[in-house]
Amino acid sequence: MSEPKSKTSAHTVTVIGGGLAGCEAAWQLAIRGVTTRLVEMRPSRMTPAHHTGDLAELVCSNSFKSEDVETAAGLLKSEIGCLGSIVLQVAHETSVAAGGALAVDRKRFSQTLSARLDVHPRIELVREEATTVPPGHVIIATGPLTSDAFAHALSGLVGEERLAFFDAAAPIVDAEGVDREAVFAQSRYDKGGGADYLNAPMTRPEYDAFYDALVGARRTTLREFERRELFQACQPIEEVARTGRDALRYGALKPVGLTDPRTGERPWAVAQLRAENAAGTAYNLVGFQTNLAFGEQERVFRLIPGLRNATFLRHGVMHRNTFVDAPRLLDRTLALRAEPRIRLAGQITGTEGYAEAAATGLLAALNTVADLRGSSPVLLPPTTALGALVAYATDPDTSAYQPMHANFGLIAPLEPPVRGKRARYAAYSRRARADLEAWLIAHGDILAEEPVDE
Ligand SMILES: Cc1cc2nc3c(=O)[nH]c(=O)nc-3n(C[C@H](O)[C@H](O)[C@H](O)COP(=O)(O)OP(=O)(O)OC[C@H]3O[C@@H](n4cnc5c(N)ncnc54)[C@H](O)[C@@H]3O)c2cc1C
Repeated sequence: MSEPKSKTSAHTVTVIGGGLAGCEAAWQLAIRGVTTRLVEMRPSRMTPAHHTGDLAELVCSNSFKSEDVETAAGLLKSEIGCLGSIVLQVAHETSVAAGGALAVDRKRFSQTLSARLDVHPRIELVREEATTVPPGHVIIATGPLTSDAFAHALSGLVGEERLAFFDAAAPIVDAEGVDREAVFAQSRYDKGGGADYLNAPMTRPEYDAFYDALVGARRTTLREFERRELFQACQPIEEVARTGRDALRYGALKPVGLTDPRTGERPWAVAQLRAENAAGTAYNLVGFQTNLAFGEQERVFRLIPGLRNATFLRHGVMHRNTFVDAPRLLDRTLALRAEPRIRLAGQITGTEGYAEAAATGLLAALNTVADLRGSSPVLLPPTTALGALVAYATDPDTSAYQPMHANFGLIAPLEPPVRGKRARYAAYSRRARADLEAWLIAHGDILAEEPVDE
């Protein structure tokens, strides 16, 4: 006798985009009894960065970053491993030696994952470009290089002003590495109550040294399509600097309206740091959107006196990148607040990175299953790497939203505080793993799979 039909099997969910997020989402739906249409436009319509028709093609690096659970990247992977990520499983099956990182043989990775999805009886792979959002439950996972026609449909859905085509993210540093002796708290002209910013002042010789390093630093190589389009959108700090030695003193590093309490004078130049979260555990370098190579960012920006010992939680990036203003649009289940049958996953939500794409695909699928089953939403503890990332990305208080990967700066501070970066990260990791374990005991039934009828 066959198994009784589940409540979910009566539904078809459409997943648009067969990248990392879409593949993860389709798999998670299918193994829970949901018939899934996975719509992927390649190979008939390619993106400017993909080269094959394989699902989940990795467009750049073959690394999913560190496996050390005491890093945010490693913790995120351990969490999605506990939640049964197929992307992570296949990444392990196709891994190549890479020290402490999880790197894959990219061809075997995407071909193995494609094959796994291809043979699943509940997944129908449709090779066509989606140009509209279909009716019913939908997960949109069209990624940073969403096709123009679909971007048009999406902007009709969310509002043109809520969809971006480029990111221009400034670096974020850990608050603990900011030298409090070398910075002062003050808002320009003391607006808004006074002390919303930390200011890292520079003397003229310090500015000159910083300037020379900045204009001489190595930049990342952009792809042709990015070079063409990106610089029409926004200028990186090093490009502004190239226009003249004082350009930054009239722009991102302008000192007007600021007085250094140690000298009683206006500094020669000032780098402003804005708190990234209410707890003040991370700071954004205001106006430091950059295309410098990551190592160069650390070398050059540490020349600013208050940042000599800074730890970079996120490096600045400037990419061609389609993403929505998630804090204004999405709830914590990744559903559009205005139309909750539609969820978003992957880079289109503004979360960035291979593991992050798989993670949000997984979460969007579990929440769609929860909707279909009429069970409660799947909200991970905000102390976990994934819970904190989604809480940040969907918090209406998150302003000037730019793509974000998992990092410890997003996680609520420890009580009592733990001094020292290494000890603190280890404590974050321990707390996250314990909280996820407790969550799984209380809510783990959502992970139950439905066998395929023979
Ligand atoms: C040039 C570039 C380099 C990057 N390098 C890295 C890196 O080294 N490491 C890293 O972690 N992250 C990198 N990223 C970010 C990376 O894209 C994401 O981490 C990850 O691929 C996002 O997964 P995703 O599933 O959201 O999107 P993708 O993996 O891009 O998948 C989206 C899928 O949707 C399909 N699609 C698009 N529009 C349509 C449509 N209308 N109809 C049907 N299908 C459609 C696409 O063909 C694609 O297969 C890079 C991004 C870019 C643009």
